[in-house]
Amino acid sequence: MIDQPDHDIATALQEVQSRIDAAARNAGRDPASVSLIAVSKTHPADHIVPAIAAGQRLFGENRVQEAEDKWPGLRTRFPDTELHMIGGLQSRKVAGAVALFDVIHSIDREKVAAAAARAMAETGRRPDCFIQVNTGEEPQKSGVLPRDVDAFVEQCRSVHDLPLAGLMCIPPADQEPAPHFALLAGMAERNGLKGLSMGMSADYEIAIQFGATLVRVGTAIFGSRASPAAVDA
Ligand SMILES: *Cc1c(COP(=O)(O)O)cnc(C)c1O
Repeated sequence: MIDQPDHDIATALQEVQSRIDAAARNAGRDPASVSLIAVSKTHPADHIVPAIAAGQRLFGENRVQEAEDKWPGLRTRFPDTELHMIGGLQSRKVAGAVALFDVIHSIDREKVAAAAARAMAETGRRPDCFIQVNTGEEPQKSGVLPRDVDAFVEQCRSVHDLPLAGLMCIPPADQEPAPHFALLAGMAERNGLKGLSMGMSADYEIAIQFGATLVRVGTAIFGSRASPAAVDA
């Protein structure tokens, strides 16, 4: 399962994109209102290049170190790619993330928000930020608890002046995702946030029904990953 040399990334990408378009139309939405992030974590640069060649521009990684190893070279060759940080951040890695990524999906606590604000002030870079919400209130998962979201949004805005774009969630693996997507959409709406980062390979069409603006799809594009601990939440 580690490598699938005959796995056709361009074909898989096209399939996912057409499912996204269909899901959006079925939900009465403009397909252009949903963006696909191709989650390339654990995959080497030579698996990413075919996706770029096929027209994909948004990519997601979940570890700063891995992205620092892979992406500077790719971005020199393909400057119009956009890099999204979707994994949990230790506060000492935040400055590196602000330096490299265009969007950060995993602002999940005060310490990370403060570190991001500091790094932005120092560098002048202002990647769009999403707050990760632990909609399932799972103890092992990071993210702000639903009851704390409104206060945290306010704090990110008024104390840290972060460029907040929306909310992100990863529903519990053993539950129907729909109620989690609905919950996230409601929290975003009442906080005036337009971005909804939700939906992975198994459930991105459902996420689109509930308003996802960014879906994060890895396996359905690149095939299975070598590392089982790949959802780093
Ligand atoms: C790995 C990962 C994804 C993609 O998961 P797939 O099931 O491979 O599509 C999406 N979001 C996050 C936060 C991830 O860590």
